[in-house]
Amino acid sequence: MGEATRDYSTYSYWLETCGDDLTPRPAMDVSIDVDVAILGAGYSGLWTAYYLLQQNPSLKVAILEREIAGFGASGRNGAWCTSGFPTSMDTLAKGWGRSAAIDMHRAMAGAVDEVGSFAARHALDIQWEKSGSLFIARGEAQLPEIGEIARSLTDYGFEDEVEVYDKAATDERIRITETLGSVWLKQTAVIHPGRLVRGLARVVESMGATIYEQTAVTDFTGGAYPVLHTDRGHARARMVVLCGEAYMSGLKGVGRQVMPVYSLITLTEPLTSDQWAAIGWYSRHTVESCKYTIDYLSKTADGRILFGGRGAPYHFGSKIEDSYDLHGPTHTMLQDNVRAWFPGLKDVRFTHTWGGPLGWPRDFMPTFSFDVRTNVASARGYTGNGVATANLAGRTLADLMLGRQTERTTLPPVNHRSRSWEPEPFRFLGVRYVQRSFGKLDEKAARTGKAPDGKSLAERLAKR
Ligand SMILES: Cc1cc2nc3c(=O)[nH]c(=O)nc-3n(C[C@H](O)[C@H](O)[C@H](O)COP(=O)(O)OP(=O)(O)OC[C@H]3O[C@@H](n4cnc5c(N)ncnc54)[C@H](O)[C@@H]3O)c2cc1C
Repeated sequence: MGEATRDYSTYSYWLETCGDDLTPRPAMDVSIDVDVAILGAGYSGLWTAYYLLQQNPSLKVAILEREIAGFGASGRNGAWCTSGFPTSMDTLAKGWGRSAAIDMHRAMAGAVDEVGSFAARHALDIQWEKSGSLFIARGEAQLPEIGEIARSLTDYGFEDEVEVYDKAATDERIRITETLGSVWLKQTAVIHPGRLVRGLARVVESMGATIYEQTAVTDFTGGAYPVLHTDRGHARARMVVLCGEAYMSGLKGVGRQVMPVYSLITLTEPLTSDQWAAIGWYSRHTVESCKYTIDYLSKTADGRILFGGRGAPYHFGSKIEDSYDLHGPTHTMLQDNVRAWFPGLKDVRFTHTWGGPLGWPRDFMPTFSFDVRTNVASARGYTGNGVATANLAGRTLADLMLGRQTERTTLPPVNHRSRSWEPEPFRFLGVRYVQRSFGKLDEKAARTGKAPDGKSLAERLAKR
C-alpha cells in the first residue's frame, strides 16, 4: 500500500474516533524559508508552535511531519494527562535541589490544568476530566509502594493532593481482585488523546502555522540559519525544533539520546451499566497497579476499559516498525489481566488492540533544550509520562527560543543532556536483560508476597 493511501484510522481507537479527516495534508515539495521549522506534529511540536505563535503571532512557523499529525504516541496513548513526572521527586531533589523538585511538581500540575483550559479556550471537546488517579496494591508485595508514593508527595508539601485508602475504601472506588489498598492522587485528568492532538493541529494552523505531512526529515544542521533536510528540499529557518520523541532514535546526532520502548493497549467493548456497577468504577479516575512491568487503565467517555502495559520486546538497533505495534503474547497478557482483575468481565469482547513506541532517555530525565550557538531546540525523553509533560515542554521551549526568563526556564529538564544509550549490541543485551528481570521480579513478588528490595542489578539500572 502506498504511503498516501495508508488508513491512519487503524493505528488506534483514538485516531479512529477523533472526528477529524485523516487525509494527509500536502507535503513540502519545494525548499522553504521560515522563522521556525519544527520536526514532528505530535503534542511537543504542536505545543511549541502554539506558544510561540501566542507570544509572537507574526512568526512564520512550519511543521514537518513524516506521516500525519498525531501519528506517534500523541495519537495512541493511555489517556492519562498527569502531573506524574518520569523522574522521582527524591532524584530531582538530589540532582537539582529540593525547591527545584517542588517547582517541577507544581509546573507539571499546572500543565494538567493548562491542557484543560486550552481545550475550553478553543472549544475542543477533548473529554478532559480531572478525576485523579488511583494506584492500587494488588497483593502484599505492592503495599509498600503505596506508602512510598504518598510519602514522596507529602515530604515535599503536597499532602493535600494525596489520600491513602485501605481495602474497604479502595473497593468503594473500584473493585479489583486481590487489591489490599490504594493511594489516590489528585493531579490527573483523563482525555481523548486523538481529539487533543488533531484539535491542536487545527488550532496552530488557524494561528498561521503550516503543517506539511508525508514529509520525512532526513537530517538537520545547526548554525546561523539552521536547516531541516528532506528528500524534496529543505526548510531553512532562524531556529529549528526536534520533536520526534521515540522516532528520533533514527536521526543522526541525537539517535542515542532516546530509545524506543513499546507500550501496548487493548480496549473492551462499551460495558453495560450492570457491568460498571459490578466493578464499582463510577468516576473516570485512572488506575495503575504497583508493578515493575507497568500497567495502566483508563475509562473512555463511551464506557470502555482501556488496559495498557509494557512487555513487548525491545528491537535491535532501536528499530521501529508498524508490525511491532501488535505483539500477540503481550496483547493476550493484557486481555487475560482484564479478566483476572474483573472476573465479571470474563466474556467481555475486545474491540481494539494497538501500541506504539515511547522515548526513553538513559537517565529517565526529559530534556527541554535550546542551544543558542546552533539555534536547535528539542523536547524529548518523556518515558511513559508525556501527555502533560509535552505541554510544559512546548511552553518552555517557546520561552527559551524567544529569550524570555520565566519560572519554567530554570526547571530541571532545561538544557539537560542525558547520557547516550550504549551502542549495539550492548544496548540490546542490557535492555532485554532488564525487561526479562522486571517480569521475574513481579512474578517473585506475587508468589512470595514480598516487595523487591531494590538491590538487584535490573532495579539499580532502572532507578529513577
Ligand atoms: C501506547 C502508549 C501509551 C502511552 N500512555 C501515556 C499516558 O497515558 N500518559 C502519558 O502522559 N503519556 C503516555 N504515553 C507517552 C506520550 O504519549 C508521549 O510521551 C507523547 O505523546 C510524546 O509526544 P511527542 O509529540 O513528543 O511525540 P510523538 O507523539 O511520538 O510525535 C512525534 C512525531 O514526530 C514524527 N516524526 C518522527 N521522526 C520524524 C522525521 N524524521 N521526520 C518527520 N516527522 C518525524 C512522528 O511521525 C510523530 O508524529 C504513551 C505512549 C504510548 C506509545
